[in-house]
Amino acid sequence: MSDVDDLIRYLDEIQTAMWDKSRAMVLSKCILFADKACLSRAVQMYNIKECREIVVNESSQNIYKVICHRWFTGCNWMLRARKQKTNMWVVGKYIGTHNCEMDTFSGNYFNLNVDLISLILIPHIEASIRYKIKECITSVHQVYGCTVAKRKAFLGSKCAFEIVYSNWDKSFASLPRYMATLQHFNPRTIIEWKLERSPEIPERIFMYMFWAFKPAIDDFVHYRPIISIDDTHVYRKYDIKLLIVVAVDANGSIFPLAFAICANESQDMWTLFLNHLKEHVVR
Ligand SMILES: [Zn+2]
Repeated sequence: MSDVDDLIRYLDEIQTAMWDKSRAMVLSKCILFADKACLSRAVQMYNIKECREIVVNESSQNIYKVICHRWFTGCNWMLRARKQKTNMWVVGKYIGTHNCEMDTFSGNYFNLNVDLISLILIPHIEASIRYKIKECITSVHQVYGCTVAKRKAFLGSKCAFEIVYSNWDKSFASLPRYMATLQHFNPRTIIEWKLERSPEIPERIFMYMFWAFKPAIDDFVHYRPIISIDDTHVYRKYDIKLLIVVAVDANGSIFPLAFAICANESQDMWTLFLNHLKEHVVR
C-alpha cells in the first residue's frame, strides 16, 4: 500500500473519530477533540442536555478528568481524556451512565457558563447587532431547554458581541488607523482630533473627533442655507456622544454634513464642534 493510501486511511480514521458538533449527544471512548477547550465544551453541552451537573476532577497540561457533581451519591459517570502528540485530545476512559437522580438537578445550570451561552448567541448577534436579552434567553432555552438568568444572558451576549465585533478598548485603539484609511480613500476629508494626556496614563486619552467628507463640504453651497444639529448617546461601556449636523436639499431630503464623537457632552465640546463646522464646512 502506498504512503498516499496510508495517509488517506489515517485522515479517514481521524475524521470518523473526531467529535462532531452536529451530534453533540455522542461521547465515547477514543473520540478525538481538536483541543482542550473543545473537549471541555462538548462534555458540558452533553451534561446540560442530560440535565446533569459535572465537576472537573483533574485538569493539567496533558490530562482532563470530569466526574458527576453527585459522585458522592454513588454516581459513576466520568470521562478522562489525555493530550496526544498531535495536540489533539482523546477520551481514554468513559463511563457514560449517570445513576444519580435527575430530579435532584438544582436548576442553577452552573455548567451552562458564559462561554457556552456566547457560542449559541454568536450567529444571532452577527445577524442583528441589537439582539435583545429577552431573545438571548429564548435562544438558549431552544438549545438547552433551560431558562438562564438575565444577568447570565447579558454576560453571554457581551462575550458574543466582543467575539464578533471586538471590544471597546480595541475599537478605540484602532480608531486612528481606521480614520486614516477613511481619509486615504476619501481624499481631502477633514478629520480633527482632541486628545489629552494624564500623568498616570502613558497613552493619550480620547476626548473628541470631528470628521466631514469632502463631497459634503463641496455640495453644501447647493443646499438650503439652514443646518440642523443634534446629538445622541452611544450606550454600552462608555457613554460617548455622537454629534451630527445635517442640511436639507431642494427636494426636502436630509443631507449629512459633519459628525463628531466625544467622550463627554459639554459646552466646550459643542463650542469645538461648531468651530470646526464653521472652519471646514459652513464657510
Ligand atoms: Zn450523575
